Amino acid sequence: MKKLFIISGSSGVGKGTIIKEFLKRHPEFRLSVSCTTRTKREGEIHGKNYFFLTEEEFKKCINNNEFLEWAEFSGNRYGTKREFVENCLKNNENLILEIDTKGALNVKKLMPESVLIFIVPPSTEELEKRLRGRHTETEEAIQKRLASIKSELENSKYFDYQVINDTVENAVKKLEEILLI
Ligand code: 5GP
Repeated sequence: MKKLFIISGSSGVGKGTIIKEFLKRHPEFRLSVSCTTRTKREGEIHGKNYFFLTEEEFKKCINNNEFLEWAEFSGNRYGTKREFVENCLKNNENLILEIDTKGALNVKKLMPESVLIFIVPPSTEELEKRLRGRHTETEEAIQKRLASIKSELENSKYFDYQVINDTVENAVKKLEEILLI
């Protein structure tokens, strides 16, 4: 692996959109596909967006030490497969992980040379508007996600870079400045 970049940001901040646009322009970067126990959203594909696992399957992976890191977020579990990261390392590839801030700080401990990037919303009001606007979560799930914003911001103090997502174009340019050096 050339370099490991970890991108985090609160739910609804638009990290998915920014990363997708970045990858379109720089297809030589790889994006890790995580495992999760949360239910599949409409349009999501197993093996592309996530590997959707049952609680049982996820626990098995934990017990077999298959995760480089895993965390509970908003009532569901999410994890990065060790094997995927190790393969990228062997193949000398630049890898992006899109994971929560707890996971990011855990990976930084294991791999101190990794670069942590936090995507910041223009405002908290805008974040809530976006989160509701995508109509992918129940009200209960939205409340849980809003409640996690504070701890995510707290954790982001230890990140290497902060990128404000005011427009996709600006945010992608900022990412390019960080990832292409
Ligand atoms: P979502 O359910 O919206 O797809 O993701 C919820 C949160 O889980 C996001 O902050 C996302 O970055 C994070 N996440 C996704 N995959 C992983 C992972 O493998 N590990 C950790 N720690 N967080 C993840």
